[in-house]
Amino acid sequence: MTKVNELLEQFHKVAVSPEEQLKSYLSQGRKVVACVPVYTPEELIHSMNLVPFGAWGAEIEVREAKKYFPAFICSILQTTLEMGITGKYDGISAIVIPSLCDSLKCLGENWKYGVPNIPFIPMTYPQNRNNDNGRAFTKAGYLRVIDDLEKITGKKFSEAELAKSNKVYNLHNQAMRRLSDVLVEYPWISASQRNDIFKSAYYMTKEEHTTLVNQLMDLLLEMPKETSNMKKIITTGIIADSRDLLTIIGENDMQIVGDDIAHESRQYRTDVNESKDALEGLADKFSRMDNCSVLYDVDKKRGDYIAEMAKRTGADGVVVVMTKFCDPEEFDYPIMKKKFDAAGIPSVLIEVDMQMNNYEQARTALQTFKDMLN
Ligand code: SF4
Repeated sequence: MTKVNELLEQFHKVAVSPEEQLKSYLSQGRKVVACVPVYTPEELIHSMNLVPFGAWGAEIEVREAKKYFPAFICSILQTTLEMGITGKYDGISAIVIPSLCDSLKCLGENWKYGVPNIPFIPMTYPQNRNNDNGRAFTKAGYLRVIDDLEKITGKKFSEAELAKSNKVYNLHNQAMRRLSDVLVEYPWISASQRNDIFKSAYYMTKEEHTTLVNQLMDLLLEMPKETSNMKKIITTGIIADSRDLLTIIGENDMQIVGDDIAHESRQYRTDVNESKDALEGLADKFSRMDNCSVLYDVDKKRGDYIAEMAKRTGADGVVVVMTKFCDPEEFDYPIMKKKFDAAGIPSVLIEVDMQMNNYEQARTALQTFKDMLN
């Protein structure tokens, strides 16, 4: 148990102090590349012996970024730009910003002017991704990223190194998928601790993180499985890492038994097919990703996907964690809600952003939701 707690503490430390991790990599002489959500080809960066580093914003006050963004842009992007302008990413070699929503497209352009000391590398994805043209388009986007990384960092790309990185990322994906299932059997691990494990993945190399996650699972599996009377929930949304919100989930005796959070499990659903050429394989991976608000889906299957997850995990309900001003998520919500209602799955919507300092509305909504589930 002591060792389990030590590992949980290790994940926590990394999750709450990414700046320490950044300093540590820079002091080792490593070059670091910031990766903006939702999907950035980390494998490419890793394969060039660069450290991919998550840039998902932070719970900070926004001042400088307001000169570039209107108030109605999601707080992930506002706070990411704020961190860039105020020097929190100093030392980073470049930032890769994908084009997966309209707000992200604005971030790249604003970054060029607001943070001229850290080069912006765009990653343009196709909407229709799952066909030959879509895969060719994605591959062309990756080649552009590679070209920029080579020019900026002086590192060289090779297919052989990418094949190794694809394997490293596949192993990490597998560990994270398994982790989500293993944690269900240990309800005393809180929602905050679960989030620490997921969040820390953005600030460590995947080799380091996979090792720690596997150690944790091995230790847990030696312990007796537990049952509890906690209400089982699925969370869905872009990000759900607010300490206050996670604490409220715990205080209301709710256990997260699965998630459809972009910052968490959505990253790990799809592996690279290692039998393909490495770069083709990476483009093919993107073409097969699905059930996400920023990935074009004419059939809008995400609600069914979550309903199926709820059935599989025995979840009592779904908590939709809506990032304020996130239009892709807002467009998905009514369609998902209809699917949840049709499947008889109770759901509740909580609005969040990274500058909230009062979660009392969320507390009331979750308390009421818990009472409904009883
Ligand atoms: S998908 Fe939503 S949360 Fe993510 S960057 Fe775009 S608007 Fe912000």
